[in-house]
Amino acid sequence: MILQALGVYVHLPFCDVKCAYCDFYSIARRHVDEDVWQRYRARLLQELKEKSENLQGKPVSLFFGGGTPSKAPPYIIGDLIEAVAKLPGAQLKEVTMEANPESLQSQNLKQLKSYGLNRVSVGIQSTSAEILKYLGRLYNEKSYREVFEKLQNAGIHNYSADFILGTPGLKMEQVFKDLNWALQGQVKHISAYTLTVEPDTMLEAAIKSGRQRKSSDRRLWLQQIKVAEFLHERGFKQYEVSNYALKNYQSLHNQLYWKYRQYIGLGVSAHSFLNGKRTANVKSLEKYLNGTASLVETAKPEIDFFIGSLRLTGKQSLLQLKRLLGEQKYKDFLNIAQDLQRRNLIQIQNLHFQMTEKGLMNADQLLKEITDALAS
Ligand code: SF4
Repeated sequence: MILQALGVYVHLPFCDVKCAYCDFYSIARRHVDEDVWQRYRARLLQELKEKSENLQGKPVSLFFGGGTPSKAPPYIIGDLIEAVAKLPGAQLKEVTMEANPESLQSQNLKQLKSYGLNRVSVGIQSTSAEILKYLGRLYNEKSYREVFEKLQNAGIHNYSADFILGTPGLKMEQVFKDLNWALQGQVKHISAYTLTVEPDTMLEAAIKSGRQRKSSDRRLWLQQIKVAEFLHERGFKQYEVSNYALKNYQSLHNQLYWKYRQYIGLGVSAHSFLNGKRTANVKSLEKYLNGTASLVETAKPEIDFFIGSLRLTGKQSLLQLKRLLGEQKYKDFLNIAQDLQRRNLIQIQNLHFQMTEKGLMNADQLLKEITDALAS
């Protein structure tokens, strides 16, 4: 039997502070007791054992997300890499850790590399102190300045930088300055997300009370277009709505998600997709540590996949989509598709569909329209 590639995601929930726009499950704690790390590690390993019984797939990618995984003691990451690498059929090609500049330590990085870490995704968001203040993020000028050098010195050359576009007050000159700085730092991958005001975040409260301004859609849109042009001219290919990479540096892990491959999610609040079922762990650290975290089933994995495949910039097969959505939902999609095609947001040709340039620039709105239509 040919085993399909699958991903493993590990959620490490602690952050130094809670960013204003963040709606991930993260806990603001500068210092985490060693005892908590030990208990968390034990639960992760236990959960991996349970979820990998009768596994129908081969792990090719492992991703440590958060939270701020670079805050975790390296042995946790090392132990998880070792355990995943020992799963039947495992062929780990990509092992990624999310990081913030402030918590990246040279010594830890060298150790992590020796354990098998081969990719780091750094949350930069901006290098402007004013913009970072709006986003409610920490800013330590020295750690930003040294971040790429630390990675290179540790022998890690596959690294990505995340930026946020559309923040009020963010000028295009600053965006270009940030991108140029990242390119000089030899990043191989850039994620340029648009600022979204999520419900129940500190940013939403600040905007509602008038303490902060809201970003303008036009600013967001223009910045997206200019970033795409800028990175294109410098050899980066846009392979997803918000993601750009040099040749051979596309994130394998993200593509597994977007291509509807299975994944095991470990840790508090983590999602899994195994044997056609999507589940989520409960969002409570205490419950997770006590082992009483029940799995909550999440709805409509096929729509999630569809949205994921639309986000990819390449052509997607309509036949595969039909198999996935079933007859009725597929018809629903074709009905909306005519309108979307007329508005030049998607293109359908030779049994394939893909987003147009205009669709890419309006991706969030477009995906929402499709999700709403299919979910009804
Ligand atoms: S560092 Fe990331 S996960 Fe942590 S609070 Fe900020 S946005 Fe959320």
